[in-house]
Amino acid sequence: MDIVERVLKGDNLALSRVISMVEGESNGKVSEIMKLINPHIGKAYRIGVTGPPGAGKSTIVDKLVVVMRREGLKVGVIAVDPSSPFTGGALLGDRIRMQQHYLDEGVFIRSMATRGSMGGLPQTASSVIKVLDASGKDIILIETVGVGQCELDIMKNTDTVLVVLSPESGDTIQTMKAGLYEIADIFVINKADRPGANNLIVDIQAMLHLRGEPGSWDIPIVATEAVNNVGIEELYHQIQRHRQALDGSGELLKRRQQQRREEFMKTSERKIIKRLLRSVEQDGQLSRYIGKVIDKVEKGEIDPYSAADEVLKSMNL
Ligand code: GDP
Repeated sequence: MDIVERVLKGDNLALSRVISMVEGESNGKVSEIMKLINPHIGKAYRIGVTGPPGAGKSTIVDKLVVVMRREGLKVGVIAVDPSSPFTGGALLGDRIRMQQHYLDEGVFIRSMATRGSMGGLPQTASSVIKVLDASGKDIILIETVGVGQCELDIMKNTDTVLVVLSPESGDTIQTMKAGLYEIADIFVINKADRPGANNLIVDIQAMLHLRGEPGSWDIPIVATEAVNNVGIEELYHQIQRHRQALDGSGELLKRRQQQRREEFMKTSERKIIKRLLRSVEQDGQLSRYIGKVIDKVEKGEIDPYSAADEVLKSMNL
């Protein structure tokens, strides 16, 4: 495919179009695109940025991009908003905030949302990350809005996860429940200029201390004032330290292996289900039989578990 060739050469226009194709699951072309892309991935470093809305994620991403560009690195930014019905670069807020980078050829920014993601948003995000990787970006920043399961799944595709909190982002316990503490490689306490920032740092220190399990990586807590560009260099330094630690311990290879394995499982699962459903659709007798079973389940004449077993048995599965 010609367009994929252009992506591999770093053409941002082609990149934009291929991402749209991947997002839209365009005419079964996604598998073909991903097959061509795959030999060219693995060079980009992936940084996930997550945390409650309003904590300062976009501002931090914006400032980090400046530092990275100063180093001459090519950067891709994906902003994922699972709650938004828009897709294809329509998150107005991000656009305005990131405006200064739009004229910079070395920065590629893309917003993603729920529409057109048959395999689920995490799956689509994972494909978009790969396309960016293959296009020659050195760093890919993936920012997610919110703190749901979807965000956690997206973060599985990254190498360093920044969890951004602010004194205003509410209940620390709530964040803990949302599973953010388990995935953090670096805690960023943003809005350090606001009252309560120190208390939040102490809370997190205590929580990290309680958790114990000393691994090879000591999770740092970095205080930032993103709007004032304070603490961003230190944050970048900690990201680099984490990268070195992952590299040195072989953990990066392990994470990538795990990612590939999971992707294989998910893709196979999706393809099996698709094929199975198609064969059910094509078999009139079987379709009618399943229709009757659903009828019975609805009326409560048979429980859903026995019904599912019965259907599988009738299909010799
Ligand atoms: P996101 O929803 O997590 O992406 O948060 P944003 O980056 O959109 O920031 C939310 C608001 O907090 C914006 O109005 C920012 O200007 C503001 N903000 C970001 N960083 C700081 C900071 O360090 N201090 C203060 N006081 N405000 C900040």
